[in-house]
Amino acid sequence: MTVKLDSVREKLRSQQRLTTEEGLFLLRDAPLLDLGQLAMEERRRRHPASVVTFVVDTNPNYTNVCNVDCTFCAFYRSPGDKEAYTHSVEEMLERIGRSAAKGVTTVLMQGGVNPELPFDYYLDLVRGVRERYPDVTPHFWSAAEIEGMAAVSGLTLQEVLVQLKDAGQTTLPGGGAEILSESVRKKISHKKGVTHSWLEVHREAHAIGLRSTATMMYGHVETPEDVVEHFEAIRALQDEHGGFTAFVPWSFKPGNTPLVKKIPRHAGPNQYLRMLAASRLYLDNFDHIQASWFSEGKKTGQVALHWGADDFGGTLFEENVHAATGFINQTSTEELKIIIREAGFTPAQRTTLYEILKVF
Ligand code: SF4
Repeated sequence: MTVKLDSVREKLRSQQRLTTEEGLFLLRDAPLLDLGQLAMEERRRRHPASVVTFVVDTNPNYTNVCNVDCTFCAFYRSPGDKEAYTHSVEEMLERIGRSAAKGVTTVLMQGGVNPELPFDYYLDLVRGVRERYPDVTPHFWSAAEIEGMAAVSGLTLQEVLVQLKDAGQTTLPGGGAEILSESVRKKISHKKGVTHSWLEVHREAHAIGLRSTATMMYGHVETPEDVVEHFEAIRALQDEHGGFTAFVPWSFKPGNTPLVKKIPRHAGPNQYLRMLAASRLYLDNFDHIQASWFSEGKKTGQVALHWGADDFGGTLFEENVHAATGFINQTSTEELKIIIREAGFTPAQRTTLYEILKVF
């Protein structure tokens, strides 16, 4: 049966869940302006106030050493490379202290999967942040790093996560999901754990009360079917524990990555708006959809606030992973407030867990 816009609209208005075919319709055929309108209806149903949240955060890296070799990554260096680095716990704590002094409340820290680092390194970092900087949330480690900790320590994923939680961790970032489809993973990150392992890490985390974000990096080798498979996987996991705080999509940046030969350009604003609106409609159990000034540019970020997003991400004072691809954007807390206001919304600062700290 051919999917029609009217039938999708009716289903959404009566709060019925969309099917795979309807998801494909949103990604392939739905007129972009209609899609935006539907996504905004849904956004206003969930968040009636015209408030757009943001977090004051930074994104430092403790090591760029990695043995996973993803073809879309310009950030990592192999063990022994002359540009490889690993910072000590003390160096990272001092750096985090300088950010805390500037008002940062979330530190989103990820790095390579470095086989030389013992599990205690990670625990000491979490404990150190909690002890020295009580206003900072350590939003640390992607699923691949958690798997790396399990490998070096001989512990299960659950044991690793319980120890991180006992050390003071409450949330995990969603990095490394890319597209949760085995066919895509085999093409772009063949050594990274199988697709179910990203889901497994987040499932185990949610089961013990940790919260996390779900991400998606599109615009490389995936098909619309792969994107719906990704949506389906995270929607099903959200049904289990409700542990995801938000969904954060961004487009792949090919600069300086091995994949640049096959994909020389990054996906543009139209595709971004479509992804964002489709996710708002398909992910009916996610409260927050994040627009990114950082990965798509400030103007596209503003438009995205009219395509279903209710959050504008973070200030990202330091960021090196996207920057390694040559795609560089910077902002300040003041500028974020202006951008959000200019787009027609009231800016509000939030915590890692989306609690409002201050409305401006
Ligand atoms: S994306 Fe992460 S896991 Fe993959 S190579 Fe880069 S640092 Fe390593």
